[in-house]
Amino acid sequence: MDEAKLEIRSCPKCGAAAKATADEFDIGVVCPKCGEAGVFPKAASDGPPVARPVHGVAGEASASGTSADDAVSTIIPYKNAAALIAYYLAVFSLIPCIGLFLGIAAFICGIIGLRKAKAMPSAKGKVHAWIGIIVGGLFALVWLAAIIWVIVNMNANRYWAR
Ligand SMILES: [Zn+2]
Repeated sequence: MDEAKLEIRSCPKCGAAAKATADEFDIGVVCPKCGEAGVFPKAASDGPPVARPVHGVAGEASASGTSADDAVSTIIPYKNAAALIAYYLAVFSLIPCIGLFLGIAAFICGIIGLRKAKAMPSAKGKVHAWIGIIVGGLFALVWLAAIIWVIVNMNANRYWAR
């Protein structure tokens, strides 16, 4: 059997590409995709066989279903808990004093959420994770600066009081 004699023809039923010799195609082969057995007609052109979209309707239906699910999980990343927690921690990091700890927690949860969103794009939550990182991180720094400022001022007052 000469390997060079192998041809690629498309299945007359589903359009899937099948590899066999010209003789095998003319006698009859079994489609690797749909299992249709029969004579595969010789391709009209020498170019690669083009798969016909027989399952187009079913494919469109499932695609629209996925995009609808995507839209919902973009608004509420229910599959990415870390990103959602980061978002809420960031909101509560606006509260003075405890905001420092909530901001740090939001920052950490945001990084976890962002990693999850990158590893699993279907989980979403990238925006929520970024809000956690930026807002949480910013307010953690603000409250940290405020605490340092208070401590420095207290020391300064003590210094001047002496
Ligand atoms: Zn087929």
